[in-house]
Amino acid sequence: MSGLILVVEDERDLVATLEYNLQQAHYRTRSALTGRAGIELCRQEPIPDLVVLDLMLPDISGLEVCRSIRSDPRTSGVPVLMLTARGEEIDRVVGFEVGADDYVVKPFSVRELLLRVAAILRRVRSPEPKGEQPIRFGRLEVEQDAYQVRVDGAEIGLTVLEFKLLATLVTRRGRVQTRERLLEDVWGYQADVTTRTVDTHVKRLREKLGGAGCYIETVRGVGYRFRSRPESEEP
Ligand code: CA
Repeated sequence: MSGLILVVEDERDLVATLEYNLQQAHYRTRSALTGRAGIELCRQEPIPDLVVLDLMLPDISGLEVCRSIRSDPRTSGVPVLMLTARGEEIDRVVGFEVGADDYVVKPFSVRELLLRVAAILRRVRSPEPKGEQPIRFGRLEVEQDAYQVRVDGAEIGLTVLEFKLLATLVTRRGRVQTRERLLEDVWGYQADVTTRTVDTHVKRLREKLGGAGCYIETVRGVGYRFRSRPESEEP
């Protein structure tokens, strides 16, 4: 697993331990000692692939940080792993309400934390598991097992890359995907591709999808988002 992990935690020793171990596991890291600094760092490009977020921070709570991450379209899709202290039962629930993806209870083993991080990244990066029902979305139908795409019932011929791009977008619908993230997840960071490659492929994919092409929305300066509902949410 690779990726950029943001650690937001006010215990310096723990930050150092986490960063060291994450780096040993081949992640890149960033860290912040306060909630506000964490929000700030989360918005900086490249957007982190995951945030490890302490619940109890000196300025604002981890819940508030999580809410802020979720409400910003640039970071709304970034998974959050919460660190909580023993006995914070209610806060855990609330943590999930504000959109944390998972939590670990302090004191935890670093090994356990690394396993959770890897599991979340695997979950958000891989398309839906095999054997899934076809995804029906307005005029569009995507059958992942059979690599088939239909618009208004008519099959559309896509390349493997175009299919992977569409499947990635549609399974993460409603969540903004940065060009960088799409590059990593769809192309796997091949040497010869740039963010412009993403734009070119999205353009071609939209053309091929015809009437369903509008489901893929451009988020200016950031990337793309597959609509959360087939009908336009624009006024
Ligand atoms: Ca703390």
